[in-house]
Amino acid sequence: MSLPENMLSQHGKEIKIIDGYKLRFHKILNNNVIRWNCTNKKCKAYLKTDESGDTVIENKLDHNDHEKDVHDIMVRQVIRNSLKRKAQDEICERPLKLIHHELKKINTDTLNKTDMNCFLKSIYLARRSKLPARPCNIQNVHEVLDSLEIKTYDDEQFLINNIFGV
Ligand SMILES: [Zn+2]
Repeated sequence: MSLPENMLSQHGKEIKIIDGYKLRFHKILNNNVIRWNCTNKKCKAYLKTDESGDTVIENKLDHNDHEKDVHDIMVRQVIRNSLKRKAQDEICERPLKLIHHELKKINTDTLNKTDMNCFLKSIYLARRSKLPARPCNIQNVHEVLDSLEIKTYDDEQFLINNIFGV
């Protein structure tokens, strides 16, 4: 069993994804144990977690004869990967514009606010990874300034004279 991954349904309800199957919150049992049932109503697979929802206490994950819910999961992965690339290629483009552009290409109605935040974070991290590490002292700051190849808007070199550098 893979570790449960969290997702929100289109109605904003919490969903767990395990091995490509989706389980939805069913009810709280004694001792605050939470029971999650497979989103396929005919299926008897379930999961019990502690109240945090992250620690699995018991599981019976035999999904008899039904397909995995890979579509929703794949859609998110495809969008995330494409965004990471675009974020670096089009470094000045607004994040929301990049996301809207991706969503136009893919027909889906299961994305929600959590997904949007996740996309924004992917863009941020992809761009952040292109920049030097945050300087931690004044010497670092000058080293970073010297190492950056800064160009004008028209892609021309210009002289940056870091007179305060050591
Ligand atoms: Zn099932």
